[in-house]
Amino acid sequence: STPRSLPLRVDGLVKRFGGITAVDGASFEVEEGSLTGLIGPNGAGKSTTFNCITGVHQPTGGHVYFRNEEITGMEPYQIARKGLVRTFQIARELEEMTVLENLMLAPKGQRGESAIQSVTPGLRGAVIEEEEAIRERAWETLEFFEIDHVATEYAGNLSGGQRKLLEMARALMTDPEVVLLDEPLAGVNPTLEEKLLERIHQLREEGYTFLLVEHDMDVIMNNCEHVIVMHQGSVLAEGDPEDVRRNERVIDAYLGE
Ligand code: ADP
Ligand code: MG
Repeated sequence: STPRSLPLRVDGLVKRFGGITAVDGASFEVEEGSLTGLIGPNGAGKSTTFNCITGVHQPTGGHVYFRNEEITGMEPYQIARKGLVRTFQIARELEEMTVLENLMLAPKGQRGESAIQSVTPGLRGAVIEEEEAIRERAWETLEFFEIDHVATEYAGNLSGGQRKLLEMARALMTDPEVVLLDEPLAGVNPTLEEKLLERIHQLREEGYTFLLVEHDMDVIMNNCEHVIVMHQGSVLAEGDPEDVRRNERVIDAYLGE
């Protein structure tokens, strides 16, 4: 039988850094259109898992599949081009660019296509058209996250919360299908947190799939329909929020933190 076309499947993922095993045989699936939570104590391997999925790290072992296609070990831009992205903190160089410029650079940076086109004279018309389309999408995305009023500000001048909105806006500029969010609410005030969560739900209704790492257990429990718990590099438990909350092994793992 044909396997279901899951947006994301991780099978026996292993990542070692020298003598440290950060991810130790993690396996899980993410359902189409879901908002899936990934939790676990500090050092459980959540961020490393994200980095292995999105090509930032080369896994030591195991497999990653995007819609049944193995993407293990591909370059980040190749994976992003397929429609699987993670958010990144705004890098130092990008802080010295405006918010609008940050968004306009995002699809090029992640897809790595336009640099070639821009030196091919015959394609100049196409490039200008592409620029216009990107600009339009950038403005729409800024409006969606309600940061269009700071479009001409340097990214480095944004508040912590606005920065988080920009990080998510940048990820969405690549027109992804699956978005991995690593603690997108860290340092965000309650009002902005509500806004960000609202945007995530809105995007999910449009068909996006989210995998969310978040430290605040209440946020996970109140927003995710499925929760995966990592501990010491592998999946300790998973299920709906209530199952996970009551799971003895999960309780022990957190109490032992
Ligand atoms: P989490 O995101 O769940 O807090 P991480 O994936 O960041 O966990 O880290 C898992 C383990 O791997 C930790 O022990 C951490 O110190 C280690 N680790 C993460 N990244 C590296 C790295 N680049 N080099 C060495 N050790 C790392
Ligand atoms: Mg982490």
